[in-house]
Amino acid sequence: MSAADPTLVREAARRRTFAIISHPDAGKTTLTEKLLLYAGAVGEAGSVTARKGRKSATSDWMEVEQRRGISVTSTVLRFEYDDVVFNLLDTPGHKDFSEDTLRVLAAVDAAVILIDAARGVEPQTEQLFRVARARGIPLMAFVNKYDRPGMEPLEIVDHLTEQLELPLVPLTWPVGIPGDFRGVIDRRDESFHRFTRVTGGSAAALEEVVDVENEGSDPAWATAREELELIDVDGAEFDEDAFLGGEQIPLLFGSAAWNFGIGQLLNTLRDIAPSARPRATEDGELRPVDQPFAALAFKVQANMDPRHRDRVAFIRICSGRFERGMRVTNARTDRTLALSFAHEVFGQDRVVLDEAFPGDVLGVIIGGDVRVGDTLYLGAPVQFPPIPTLTPESFVTVSNRDVNRHKQFRRGLEQLDQEGVVHVLRREHSQDPVPVLAGVGPMQFEVAVERLRTEFGADVRTEMLPWQAARRTDAEGAAKVLADPGHTDVFVRADGTQLAVFPNRFILDRFAQRNPSVRLERLIGAD
Ligand code: GDP
Repeated sequence: MSAADPTLVREAARRRTFAIISHPDAGKTTLTEKLLLYAGAVGEAGSVTARKGRKSATSDWMEVEQRRGISVTSTVLRFEYDDVVFNLLDTPGHKDFSEDTLRVLAAVDAAVILIDAARGVEPQTEQLFRVARARGIPLMAFVNKYDRPGMEPLEIVDHLTEQLELPLVPLTWPVGIPGDFRGVIDRRDESFHRFTRVTGGSAAALEEVVDVENEGSDPAWATAREELELIDVDGAEFDEDAFLGGEQIPLLFGSAAWNFGIGQLLNTLRDIAPSARPRATEDGELRPVDQPFAALAFKVQANMDPRHRDRVAFIRICSGRFERGMRVTNARTDRTLALSFAHEVFGQDRVVLDEAFPGDVLGVIIGGDVRVGDTLYLGAPVQFPPIPTLTPESFVTVSNRDVNRHKQFRRGLEQLDQEGVVHVLRREHSQDPVPVLAGVGPMQFEVAVERLRTEFGADVRTEMLPWQAARRTDAEGAAKVLADPGHTDVFVRADGTQLAVFPNRFILDRFAQRNPSVRLERLIGAD
């Protein structure tokens, strides 16, 4: 692959790789479906929702997920619209699976924050927003459910500005009060789009670009224009550099259920979301997209298909061309492995891909050892920075109930640790053989127990531990923490991170005050 591969550069330029982050129930599934509908990728909306009930579908392969009717694992949807290739990465909505979302954010070039017009910024959105912002990802916001009574649009802008602490720039503006949604003004060309709802929402809404002069009789249009004048006075102009730098959030209004404002969102993603750009490597250099193949593994999953004990790594291609069957090197182990099969997941189908380009996200079946955060490359060594982890807030011991299945139990734990389903901790200072699992929330443990049982035949018992706060520390800090009488402890993660754990924030703060020289760092996420 030469540095002057014009196909590669062209293909990278037409990629848009993004995620939608939201609080559960804000409408992410509905919006995803409607984006596919508007892109012409599905003939009729409903295919994504249909997936929710299917066991065999990639995002719903786990029983826990089925029982709870939530999406635990991420999938990628790839669709083409107007000569642009979109890779839409799904993120689990539930807080306990935030670490999965964090990994997805390491693989995307932009994110849409989805907000329920009546509820505003909810805690989960806020946390994910903070993570996205810390990574400098360009963000746009979509205010959904404007068809229902909720906040007035100016109130929404104020609320979002206050909550997100960044300037918001409306690109579209709703016409009609919340609950009586008639259309939007597209601020970029001052056009007025009137929508008519098509019952059922499985087909695109009727959309007319109307002549304002003839709409004089409808006070809703006049009100929307007056509101926009107030926004203009505020001087909120779209600035591409500010957006790309993550310092300004373009804002759009719509209703995913009614198909209002979906076309505008899709076009905005096409027009302003960044294409695959040079990516920073561990040594701080930017690696251009036309360098030899390099990809980041941001998700690893074993046993997705119970009939084949395969391991799938979801990789984000950062440079070069992917070809099926290629042999690459894993930067962490220095070993080569074959990316034998690649599939993209589209709706209900898996399609085998023969080649892919920077920006693309695909699942590859891997023969060797690949962990979350690994860099896979061709040619000269390259390594991308590690994916950050969240501060754990829940801890359990996990013990094996069937001595005859000890090997399976160990193997299962190692697998779950490598996938990052939970973090398996050990005590460096004691011989206590009972492993401790750490996570952001208890549902992670539920998934771990279920997978140990179904995939490894290991019958396990977990017991809640009394810690709710953790900090990264060093050897010196660990000694101080262990000497403390306040029911604290120290554990080590597989990556060598030492974690000091405390019963609660109060005791943690008190310890920190008494021991100002001890290194106690937050991972990202928890406070
Ligand atoms: P998710 O949990 O974020 O994936 O949310 P869903 O897409 O499953 O939507 C949650 C609920 O909100 C469902 O009952 C949807 O039908 C409903 N919903 C989604 N979008 C809209 C919208 O624009 N307007 C209204 N009224 N309801 C919506």
